[in-house]
Amino acid sequence: MTATHPGRGVAGLERAFPIRRDEPMSRHTSFRIGGPAEVFVRVDSRETLRTAAAIAAEASLDVLYVGGGSNLLVSDAGAGGLVVETWTNRDPFEGVDLAPGGDGTVSLWVFSGVPLPRLATMAARRGLSGMEWAAGIPGTVGGGVVNNAGAHGSSMAEAVSAVSVWTPQGDRELRAGELGYGYRTSRFRTGGFDPSTVVLAARLVFRPDEPAAIEGRIAEYTAYRRATQPSQRSVGSIFKNPPGASAGRLLEEAGMKGTRIGDAEISPKHANFIVNRGHARAAEVLELINLTQQRVLAEFGIRLELEIQPVGKGF
Ligand SMILES: Cc1cc2nc3c(=O)[nH]c(=O)nc-3n(C[C@H](O)[C@H](O)[C@H](O)COP(=O)(O)OP(=O)(O)OC[C@H]3O[C@@H](n4cnc5c(N)ncnc54)[C@H](O)[C@@H]3O)c2cc1C
Repeated sequence: MTATHPGRGVAGLERAFPIRRDEPMSRHTSFRIGGPAEVFVRVDSRETLRTAAAIAAEASLDVLYVGGGSNLLVSDAGAGGLVVETWTNRDPFEGVDLAPGGDGTVSLWVFSGVPLPRLATMAARRGLSGMEWAAGIPGTVGGGVVNNAGAHGSSMAEAVSAVSVWTPQGDRELRAGELGYGYRTSRFRTGGFDPSTVVLAARLVFRPDEPAAIEGRIAEYTAYRRATQPSQRSVGSIFKNPPGASAGRLLEEAGMKGTRIGDAEISPKHANFIVNRGHARAAEVLELINLTQQRVLAEFGIRLELEIQPVGKGF
């Protein structure tokens, strides 16, 4: 992607969408951190996402796609170019025919901007099991597909059977086997696709079950999260678990819990979470990340790899 001043493409966007200039990204990230987006639009359907992507590509705009902003550390200087946020609270099952899979499963196409907690809750109400694990992940289907989000022993890799993407050459349908899924990664993260590729929707597979049983599992997972994770603003786990070890445990053993730089703090409850105690800046979070990586490297000889994504000007 080439960084281009958005001026030229903005006229086309403005004809299609209400745009916002200098929109604080702190309003669109779960960390509540991030400087202004030069130009910001929100889309709430496959069609509007496709339109935004096409206008941006036509004008060679630098684009950042954001779902829940729950895995992003946006720099204090903000994001140049265009930010496209995908989000809708519409019920993904309403008016949709479920496709039977022949093995007792059913599947449906879900827009990338559907929040995972809403998807899990709506599926449970209809007696459809398969996304309970995602009920406490504050991201969207699109962000989950890109990151291979996962929890409680399950992940998107098992839930997704296909993904519909927009590319400058047109729409494509990719099978799950083509997505290069691994632990919190996919070909979207490793540069395996043209960088302007956008996830429009995912075909998700469910298995019928009793709503009460599904809701019971969601309640159990939610209780576990409440007991083990901080409630303050965060972006979830900062580091990936290194092979055979837990990043949180290493950080705890390195005595990092409660370490603060400004308003950024390593959570006293879970050492792999950095929390925003009020007005933390991205620079402070990054400083804390660097300090933590150095300490773990010095103590255990392990270089922790980021799970979160620093994005924006200056990063
Ligand atoms: C309290 C908390 C708990 C969490 N727990 C978990 C957990 O248990 N497991 C886990 O895996 N993660 C967890 N996370 C992290 C985060 O929620 C996941 O990584 C989630 O999948 C990110 O989704 P998102 O929609 O917020 O993506 P964003 O953070 O908005 O974006 C993530 C990446 O996806 C790209 N992207 C988003 N939408 C699209 C699209 N439509 N097309 C192309 N690219 C797109 C973005 O450009 C970016 O590269 C947690 C976060 C928080 C705050």
